[in-house]
Amino acid sequence: MDWTPIFQAVRNATDLAHKVQLRHIVRSEKGKNDPVTIADYGAQAIICRALQEHFPDDAVMSEESGTQFMTLVDPEQRTLIAELIGETLDVPVKEDDVAMWLDHGKEQETRHMWVIDPIDGTKGFLAQRHYVVVVGTMLNRQPIGGVIGAPAYPGGGRLFHASDGEAFYQPLNGSGKSERIRVSDRSNVATLRAVESVEKSHAGLEQMAEVRREMGMNEALVDRSDSQEKYGRIAAGDAELYLRLPRLKSTRPHSIWDHAAGVALLTAAGGKATDVDGSPLDFSEGISLKNTGVIATNGVIHDRVVEAVQTVLERTQVEE
Ligand code: AMP
Ligand code: MG
Repeated sequence: MDWTPIFQAVRNATDLAHKVQLRHIVRSEKGKNDPVTIADYGAQAIICRALQEHFPDDAVMSEESGTQFMTLVDPEQRTLIAELIGETLDVPVKEDDVAMWLDHGKEQETRHMWVIDPIDGTKGFLAQRHYVVVVGTMLNRQPIGGVIGAPAYPGGGRLFHASDGEAFYQPLNGSGKSERIRVSDRSNVATLRAVESVEKSHAGLEQMAEVRREMGMNEALVDRSDSQEKYGRIAAGDAELYLRLPRLKSTRPHSIWDHAAGVALLTAAGGKATDVDGSPLDFSEGISLKNTGVIATNGVIHDRVVEAVQTVLERTQVEE
């Protein structure tokens, strides 16, 4: 499979997102504490346009929709999005094109499917922190590949890529070669580096800290960042642990587009991602994972983390 058009689409989408950050950030709400910006629509439209051209028969699972674009976004903003896409791609773009691209491949199921989170980490994007543009692929509902454009990756923007069981990165700006990446082999607990969400509403940060205490990890080596960039950090050997435990009593499911590409990348780099009890992540149905949470590691430390998570979860239940 030729990934070149997807690399290009992800680069174009990050360019558009950058323009929005510099010029016209406008936040609207899809639901309570669930923001969306014109960059989300613009980035998804660019990616879906490429998929429609190069992989027209594949189904697409994507976060934003054409209906939402036509009903939630006011006419002035819709015109602005079309203009921004046109400027980024250097082609004329109409509002109707945007609505059509946004819905491309939706509501169908094929053996090979694309999974898109156009701006993953919208809150990070709005706060000028970290965010990524994500395109994943699933075969028979198993994540197998993807591209993650990470403009705010520490040390410089990166384009991560996984396919055929191998993981790579290259500079996001296209200035350098693609390099094979692999997870780190650190297992000494005092040296383990963890990454987790910035947003307190997204995960049970207190319980996650308790898991680290249970393992004897060093809190100074914990870094917070938005988005699936966290999977990239472990895949690139820059961290060993990404925990995502749900907040106590939270029933919010984990969306497939928040994990598919990241899990494919991490697995291809030699790492491991499971549910909180070590069972496999289940992407088999609908738009939500059938899991409680996610433990993503470099593999070597995985069983120890699962054990510590189970200890903390059992303790929490007893205390309730
Ligand atoms: P992160 O940047 O890793 O914290 O994750 C960003 C993702 O968290 C977003 O793409 C959302 O799908 C998801 N998210 C948004 N609100 C919540 C919430 N209240 N609880 C759990 N996840 C959320
Ligand atoms: Mg997301």
